[in-house]
Amino acid sequence: MSAVQAEEPAARRLLLKISGEALMGKNQFGISAIVVDRLAAEVQRARSGSIELGVVIGGGNIFRGLAAAENGLDRVAADQMGMLATVMNALAMQTALERLGEQTRVLSAIPMDTICEPYIKRRAMRHLEKGRIVIFAAGTGNPFFTTDTAAVLRAVETGCTLILKGTNVDGVYDSDPHRNPGARRYDTLSQTEALARNLRVMDSAALAVARDNGLPIRVFNLSGEGAVAAAVRGTGVGTTVTPD
Ligand code: UDP
Repeated sequence: MSAVQAEEPAARRLLLKISGEALMGKNQFGISAIVVDRLAAEVQRARSGSIELGVVIGGGNIFRGLAAAENGLDRVAADQMGMLATVMNALAMQTALERLGEQTRVLSAIPMDTICEPYIKRRAMRHLEKGRIVIFAAGTGNPFFTTDTAAVLRAVETGCTLILKGTNVDGVYDSDPHRNPGARRYDTLSQTEALARNLRVMDSAALAVARDNGLPIRVFNLSGEGAVAAAVRGTGVGTTVTPD
């Protein structure tokens, strides 16, 4: 057997996207420490084995640029505030993961050297290879985007093979399951169809980048115990949104 064949199989590299709202718990706003601790434990459980994990957390529990701009704030400034909100969530998750003994790094698209590292692709790769959980903060660093697009962008840049999008529903439905009891969940769905039918898997910019780069997205419900680990193993309920 050659040296190359004898090597361990390469670790599977995945990117987990969590919306900011998932951190609120029962509150209307902000960060619930209890919920962040639970999510951190879920992430730790999911990472066992040869999994390299990047995480993107939104900021909608603290600040949404579009909503603030509709109330009169300058859109660019509002989006910058939204990106700063994602850094707060990233730091909350980092400290929760570190309490559990995990090695983590927060890499921000907006440099803020006294708080975290700047996002540099090679540095991100190195951290992932060393088994550190890398939390990508501050979105893409650009206004008019979302953290869904940031998740796809970072996943493509760092060579992730799958995005796991944790939400409050257990997949993608043909209509809103909270309003329509007859709504049907897809097991798989193409990204082109999701875009054409505006099925809100992710925003259209994010979906287009995923499709153009051959990156599948698995949508699953974040709330059940072991849900993240099941999504990583591919055993849980959910919808896989595939590139064409
Ligand atoms: N945002 C941005 N550029 C980005 C990512 C995020 O301007 O690349 C801003 C935008 O204002 C957005 C806010 O950050 O409303 C929070 O992100 P997002 O809405 O994606 O969070 P989530 O819905 O996932 O909690």
